[in-house]
Amino acid sequence: MTTSKRDYYEVLGVARDATPEDLKKAFRQQALKFHPDRNKEADASDRFKEVNEAYQVLTDPQRKAQYDQFGHAGVNGQAGRGFDGFEGFGGFGDIFDSFFGGSSRQTSNKGVDLEFQINVSFRDAAFGVARELELTRMELCKRCDGKRAEPGTDVIECSTCHGEGKVRRTQRTFFGQFQQVTACPTCQGEGQQIKTACKQCSGRGAERKTRKIEVQIPAGVEHGTKLLIHGEGEAGGKGIRNGDLYVHIGVQRDKVFSRRGNDVLMTAEVNMVLAALGGIINVETLEGSADIDINPGTQSGSVNRIKGAGIPHMGAADRRGDQLVELKVITPSKLDDHQTQLLQDLAESFGLERVSENSGAAHGLFDRFKDAFRSETGSS
Ligand SMILES: [Zn+2]
Ligand SMILES: [Zn+2]
Repeated sequence: MTTSKRDYYEVLGVARDATPEDLKKAFRQQALKFHPDRNKEADASDRFKEVNEAYQVLTDPQRKAQYDQFGHAGVNGQAGRGFDGFEGFGGFGDIFDSFFGGSSRQTSNKGVDLEFQINVSFRDAAFGVARELELTRMELCKRCDGKRAEPGTDVIECSTCHGEGKVRRTQRTFFGQFQQVTACPTCQGEGQQIKTACKQCSGRGAERKTRKIEVQIPAGVEHGTKLLIHGEGEAGGKGIRNGDLYVHIGVQRDKVFSRRGNDVLMTAEVNMVLAALGGIINVETLEGSADIDINPGTQSGSVNRIKGAGIPHMGAADRRGDQLVELKVITPSKLDDHQTQLLQDLAESFGLERVSENSGAAHGLFDRFKDAFRSETGSS
């Protein structure tokens, strides 16, 4: 493209009587074919620009006429005027968005953000944990430092925007004439074109790298928290800041604990005798175990609080929630003879024996069945 220019019709692969529709179709095809993000050949970016230039000229009726009559000499030095040619194209942005992976946004302020999910256990979420995240992202090419040109070769002023990086296009509407300034599509706002593409990155200025990033998950993190790690997204290009990395935290359920705010909730079983008499039980905590006092006469459903045994506040780890222990009074289902006797005595002291007899139609019923059973098997 530096010395003898190829014929614009040939570049787009269309006949000289191609309709605007044909041109648009051919341009899309060729632009996709040679876009440096997809095409790794060294001359892809030059070919891409060539396609771009051909399309600009051939879709501008005035410049097309000049080109048809005088060839390249007819349109030399006028490339900057051609952007009315993109009118009705549906915006140059949409074709870029569709195959750049959204990198047309990069020309505005920063590289593409990345998002990942990390799942941690309930306890790791409570106290924080460091995790390694392996990610693949675009990084500035080390060889050309993002400049896209092979080191030592020329970088020339963009012929479309004359180094400005911006193009103006005038829109005539019913309400009047508007001027819109957009990033130059030829140089993507850089104002420069390269003569020889960098050998390592094929003139993209960036290359795909796999990196391990250590993510410090803070104590007290909640399920669904989104951590923002500045600058660890994709490279934005020379002079443009990197995208950011967002890490979504998933917190797994715990078999003992659940969470409410910064408090942890759990249930502990208390033998009914202990619940009646009072005493001490040992319960699991996030960091081990703790003894809690059971008051005499404790009811099922009552809650004991262990101060400060809950989850640290995110960003203020010295402040912690409490552990709330819901007590569930358990009735023993297996008693030995001695225990049965003790409970019968206890029942008697509460006057329950009498109540049991009064409502004890079932008792008598059982005795009758018992007799019936014995006579049937003849084992009495
Ligand atoms: Zn490079
Ligand atoms: Zn330009």
